[in-house]
Amino acid sequence: MRQSRAFIPTMRDVPAEAEVASHRLLLRAGYIRQVASGVYTYLPLAWRVLKKAMAIIREEMDAAGGQEILMPALQPAELWQATGRWDDYGPLMMRLVDRHERPFALGPTHEEVITALVRDEVKSYRRLPLILYQIQTKFRDEYRPRFGLLRGREFIMKDAYSFDRDEAGLEASYRAMYRAYVRIFERMGLKFRAVEADAGAIGGSYNHEFMVLADVGEDTIAYCTACDYAANVERAEVPPPDPASAPDEPVRPLERARTPGIRTVAEQAAILGLPLEKIIKNVVYLADGAPVVVLVRGDHQVNEVKVKNFLGARFLEMADEATIRRLFGAGPGFVGPIGARDVRILADHAVRHLRNASTGANEDDWHYVGVNPGRDFQVEAYGDFRVAQEGDACPRCGAPLAFARGIEVGHVFKLGTKYSAALGAVYLDEDGRQREMLMGSYGIGVSRVIQAAVEQSHDEDGIIWPPALAPFDLHLLVVNAADADQLTVAEGLYDALTSGGLDVLYDDRPERAGVKFKDADLIGIPLQVIVGSGVKDGEIELKIRRTKEKRRVPLPEALETIR
Ligand code: ATP
Ligand code: MG
Ligand code: MG
Ligand code: MG
Repeated sequence: MRQSRAFIPTMRDVPAEAEVASHRLLLRAGYIRQVASGVYTYLPLAWRVLKKAMAIIREEMDAAGGQEILMPALQPAELWQATGRWDDYGPLMMRLVDRHERPFALGPTHEEVITALVRDEVKSYRRLPLILYQIQTKFRDEYRPRFGLLRGREFIMKDAYSFDRDEAGLEASYRAMYRAYVRIFERMGLKFRAVEADAGAIGGSYNHEFMVLADVGEDTIAYCTACDYAANVERAEVPPPDPASAPDEPVRPLERARTPGIRTVAEQAAILGLPLEKIIKNVVYLADGAPVVVLVRGDHQVNEVKVKNFLGARFLEMADEATIRRLFGAGPGFVGPIGARDVRILADHAVRHLRNASTGANEDDWHYVGVNPGRDFQVEAYGDFRVAQEGDACPRCGAPLAFARGIEVGHVFKLGTKYSAALGAVYLDEDGRQREMLMGSYGIGVSRVIQAAVEQSHDEDGIIWPPALAPFDLHLLVVNAADADQLTVAEGLYDALTSGGLDVLYDDRPERAGVKFKDADLIGIPLQVIVGSGVKDGEIELKIRRTKEKRRVPLPEALETIR
């Protein structure tokens, strides 16, 4: 690809909301452009990288016995109602209605669609096991889309689903997927760890997350300094209390009203001149980090400003974990540091109270009337759970735990019969008995993982792609395109390399040398082939992007050395 013709719009002034290096670099180097919050166009360079990632994933999925399909993004509500997730997914799901007023969602995941498919088509044990996968666009109306491709609202996911006859079969499928994931992330050149994880909204019993180690990661992982134990700190070491012991209060129908311009709690706090912690007593998250309920201190001042309309407000400031920790670490309602796990227990509980409410009021200007937090939304704290922290011992061998931040790039779940039971995915076994299929589900954030690779591998000058993901095999530069000798050598090399099967980005632009070198480092192709003034001595230069190490190579040896 000639760079003079290539659509690589580099950018000098990156928007301030690009907080992390990988996001800034993908914008600056002309890989992606934002269309809306959490929604991106992949430009030619990014699309090449994505195709590399997808090829690796496809090879390993196929090798593990997977068969590729493609399901629709548009999914009818009935399927989700059958599993109860139409309500449980809450505002994270992008919902729409068709012209006949029928409700649909843009799929955040595909357990329902695939379980219904396999239910209809597979009736006998002879057709099991079955592993199907797809690479597809997913939609999640994330409460806080951020960090570019790391948390988008539209993103590319590889999702695979296994169907087995029994527990042993599920174990075999799960292991095959787990091993495939290890190979995929190794081939991508990532530093990662597989950790035991919490199940979240997908449900199911047993699961692992694959974490790319990076300081900007939103997850914290605890790992043993002696044995191979590693877990997301969200996962409780102390068993959570039995949810059945929580009081099961009757659900009260809620009345919804609209008040244009209703303020957020933060705005109210600013008007009152009160710190947030004076106003807010408790926060409950839905499983994916979207705050649904904020319980407000029941003091006079607060009632006066009618913050009891809390359900209609948007609590942007409360979405971030550091703030929650700061505000609630030892505050009322919570004991010990708050982790996603205890939040989830609370959320489960709140969702029961909010069944009627969870999808309607969390919109701008909408709220519930006559709601008295603390009376209508009692949320208990469970005292004996805490997340792992510095100084804790490994639950397996007792050695000290260490901690690191990670970006979740993959997640493998044993679902058991959660979806097959809800949707009636049964088969007849050898003895003619009807049994529920055992399922697993296995996701990789394809768009997320390519940015995670950049987060892990860059320097102050730009991206340093792991070779397996690089958009081109090498970057050929002619230092002075006006110099006939340099141009002749560069053009000759370009032809020879491309016809030899290499993917070459060829900087043939009439730009200053400094601009070309800067752009090449920014774009981050691992090997640069530089044709400059050395040609008069019959030499070119090879530069390793990662180490910046340069080496002169006599022209006749150039092709051999590069290959
Ligand atoms: P997170 O904890 O980051 O919100 P998740 O646990 O909700 O992710 P899963 O339901 O496990 O995500 O989906 C499978 C994979 O899809 C994740 O491991 C992640 O790599 C990717 N993914 C999930 N949400 C997003 C998103 N908003 N943007 C990009 N990739 C995502
Ligand atoms: Mg999520
Ligand atoms: Mg997660
Ligand atoms: Mg996950």
